[in-house]
Amino acid sequence: MSRVIELYDTLHAMPELGFEEVKTAEFLANALKKAGYSVTTGVGGTGVIGVYDSGVAGPTLALRADIDALGHFIDGKLCALHTCGHDAHTSMVLTAAEEIIAQKLISKGKLKILFQPAEEPGTGALAVINAGGIDDVDMILGLHLRPLSEVPMGKSTPALYHGASNRLKAIFRGVAAHGARPHLGVNAIDAAVAAITAVNAIHLNPSDSYSIKATKMIADAGVTNAIPDEATVIWDVRSELNDTMDLLLERAKSAISAGAATVGATAEISTYSYIPAAHYSKEAIEVLSKAIVDVYGEEGLAPEIKTVGGEDFHYYIKERPSIKAGYFGLGCDLTPGLHNPSMKFNKNAMEQGKEVLICATKRVLN
Ligand SMILES: [Zn+2]
Ligand SMILES: [Zn+2]
Repeated sequence: MSRVIELYDTLHAMPELGFEEVKTAEFLANALKKAGYSVTTGVGGTGVIGVYDSGVAGPTLALRADIDALGHFIDGKLCALHTCGHDAHTSMVLTAAEEIIAQKLISKGKLKILFQPAEEPGTGALAVINAGGIDDVDMILGLHLRPLSEVPMGKSTPALYHGASNRLKAIFRGVAAHGARPHLGVNAIDAAVAAITAVNAIHLNPSDSYSIKATKMIADAGVTNAIPDEATVIWDVRSELNDTMDLLLERAKSAISAGAATVGATAEISTYSYIPAAHYSKEAIEVLSKAIVDVYGEEGLAPEIKTVGGEDFHYYIKERPSIKAGYFGLGCDLTPGLHNPSMKFNKNAMEQGKEVLICATKRVLN
């Protein structure tokens, strides 16, 4: 059995949720040490970083893999399962890391292997950044398995563009009153409805793709013969570009405040669960494109892809804009889809993914 598949089988059998990747982190730290890396554990919680310094001046290249599994309810019980392929990403990055050193494939700069915790909750990358994990990085490369509907086995896309996503929350506050005397109160439900209508009337340039819609509303004063003085609404907000997200939030906040004000209520507005959109450097995309051609030939270079999912990898560039980032999508005949408990893919694709990582590294660190 090949090394990458052997690693995958090992990691697949020890799925752990975000920030609980204790066994996984220990396993990865030991493997990196054995391969010749200086290893730091506990990065941003359960992250692991391995550094190999060639001793010759040059750029620092980071290869990043996410290491957490998802929590699925199976027969009413919460189970950790690797259904997003993070075990595959980790296996490919670790195998590449081992081969690069064993075969002395780089001649300058530093190679940094970054095993990031907690991608699924969307908070692991920020934890690594806040721990100083990427302060010295010049270029960072990541990857993800792609569903068959996007890229088939035998091809990879050199740039997978995720959109930005966000949640916008407003707590509307009115004035409680008896149901028979509504004129003495301010109905928080009326405020929420006015705000939802105002948000629905936002129109940005249709050529920039975006969406904003209310996905949760809570208003329950306990009784039905009184005017409720509090209501909460949550909107799911998405956009293809980070600038569009900023504009959409600005418009939505003023629409919500104005909507609440039409009935004399106030709105306390906040955001959470923000994930930035992809923003890649031309140089990194070129490195990955050439590496894909090195491995598959020209016919294996799939077009760039826009996908609706989110990925916290994009915090690395949002928080450290000087870093050049690239992210490729690996064709592996994955069905029926990511995050599906019966997700499966062709494991042989990991050989190709690992080779793309090696070829890209050789192109940057030689
Ligand atoms: Zn996922
Ligand atoms: Zn994932």
